[in-house]
This record gives sequence, C-alpha cells and structure tokens, in this order.
Amino acid sequence: FRRAAAGVRGGVERTFIALKPDGTQRGLLGDVIKRFEQKGYKLVAIKAIVPSRALAEKHYEDLKTRPFFKGLVSYMTSGAAPVIAMVWEGKDVIRQGRRLIGATNPLEAQPGTIRGDYCISVGRNIIHGSDSFESAEKEISLWFGKSEVYDWQYGNAEWLYADN
Ligand code: GDP
Ligand code: MG
Repeated sequence: FRRAAAGVRGGVERTFIALKPDGTQRGLLGDVIKRFEQKGYKLVAIKAIVPSRALAEKHYEDLKTRPFFKGLVSYMTSGAAPVIAMVWEGKDVIRQGRRLIGATNPLEAQPGTIRGDYCISVGRNIIHGSDSFESAEKEISLWFGKSEVYDWQYGNAEWLYADN
C-alpha cells in the first residue's frame, strides 16, 4: 500500500469497495464500476469471493457488539451470490468513494448516490466502501494478496490530474 504512485500527479490513495451479495444478485456490478470509472478512478484489483465467516467477522470487527452483527455476517457469507471485492485508486478516492456510495441507511442516501438510487434497507444496502485511510489499508490487505493488486497507469492520466 502506498500513498503516492509514481507517474500520477496529485496525492493518490486506494480504497476497498465491495459489492455485497444482494448487489451481485441484483445485477448492479456494471453500474457500480461505471460510476467509479467515469469519475476517473482506476480499478487495480477485482475478484468474486464468498468470504469465510472469519474474513467477514474480521472485516466488520468494529461492529461485533451490535445486535445486527450476526445477521450481517450471515448475509455476507451466505454464498447466494459472491461478494465482488475491488480496490479503486485515485486522488481522494476513500472519501469520494463514500460520497458516490451514499449514506449507510439507503432512505437517508441522496438520489444520485449508489445506495440512494438502488436500495431501501440498511440490512441490504448493496455495497461497502472503506471509511478512512486506516480501514482502507486494513481491508485491502484482508481481502487481497499483494500480487492481486496491480500498479498500472491510465495512458490519459494527464487529462484527469493537474497540479495547478
Ligand atoms: P457503512 O460503512 O456505511 O457500510 O456502515 P457501517 O460501517 O456503520 O455498517 C456496516 C454495515 O452494517 C452496513 O453497511 C449495513 O450493511 C450493516 N448495518 C449497519 N447498521 C445496521 C442496522 O442498523 N441494521 C442492520 N440490519 N444492518 C446494519
Ligand atoms: Mg463502515
């Protein structure tokens, strides 16, 4: 994990984005990828995975005392559809990814955001995004091996980034 990528101007960071099983089941992967791509972000890792209970529990460890924790882990691990795990890279992508996704409760999420446009229930809110640099770092290393995350540059990066 690195903050600054050689060859890309501006501060660069990575975030962990995961389409949850309901999002996969509902065929929303293409739209999610489209929204991140059209913003200018770069996909550096992707895989379909049914997480083990241990992985899901570790991913959501901060919520383990919450009443919905058990249900949340079952939802993520059921295997009714895989989670589509991704790493996206670009300037301010952690915070901007959360903005693209919208509020945790889809009824509070603005229209135009992913959750605002596609879901109703907090228990089926279709997508995850890291909420800080620290959680991005933790989640990327939890879901992906080093060799699964690619360093590559858009050929047109100069049209996305300028220092001044
Ligand atoms: P997020 O970062 O916006 O995903 O929200 P949190 O980190 O607070 O919660 C993680 C996930 O737990 C959410 O995306 C929901 O899937 C689930 N969750 C959070 N709050 C509730 C709740 O009150 N009820 C249920 N059933 N699930 C919840
Ligand atoms: Mg969270």
